[in-house]
Amino acid sequence: MKKFILGLAVLSTVVMKAQTQIIAHRGYWQTQPPTTENSLKSLENAQKLKIYGAEFDVRMTKDGVLVVNHDEHHEKMEISETDFKELEKAKLSNGENFPTLKDYLKQGKKDKSLKLIVEIKPAKTKELEDELVQKTIKEIKSMKLESQSEFISFSLNICKEIKKAEPKSKVQYLNGELSPEQIKSEGLDGMDYHYSVFDKNPTWISEAKVLGLITNSWTVNDVAVYEKLKGQGIGFITTNIPDQLKNK
Ligand code: MG
Repeated sequence: MKKFILGLAVLSTVVMKAQTQIIAHRGYWQTQPPTTENSLKSLENAQKLKIYGAEFDVRMTKDGVLVVNHDEHHEKMEISETDFKELEKAKLSNGENFPTLKDYLKQGKKDKSLKLIVEIKPAKTKELEDELVQKTIKEIKSMKLESQSEFISFSLNICKEIKKAEPKSKVQYLNGELSPEQIKSEGLDGMDYHYSVFDKNPTWISEAKVLGLITNSWTVNDVAVYEKLKGQGIGFITTNIPDQLKNK
């Protein structure tokens, strides 16, 4: 009986831990000393943490090269209006080369246990967004990283195009205005919303779970916010402090 109770206690701890998983936001870059977000080093740091995944942002240059960068601009150059050979002249602040998606995926492939959470950034037209989706999926497939990759986007068009191209892939919507029922009826797999959205809609996490949707929240850099979301049963959180939250 004692063994049984002990077993239950261990099992419940494991289940509790499995309930909320950690995703490093733009890699793990708030290290000592810090490195640059969305750099290969930040991805490598995330790999060492043994967490669920690392998120990064994908954009397309004027000449159709896929690169990893959060902002529309790299230095003073607008990525979608500049050719890659110009963009790569400016290094990242940590001295690395301006990363292509291919560079990033190569580093990601070194640790199969860390999911690659691919954020595809909205583009200026539907045509550009569709091209960005097709090219991103092609690169992921050419490196056989389909099962290691999941997708997020603020663009509903991008989310739907990913599902059209790769129905088995996991796609979560970021923008926050769609209810769990709407996410389900759009054919998407989950909602990855700013934590204030779940604050305003306190029933959404449990409603999403009933519908079998993934629940995720960004960017949770506060332990109290993390604990609240965890208490509501959120599946994932995306954070700049993965080192601090992974053992909470
Ligand atoms: Mg992002």
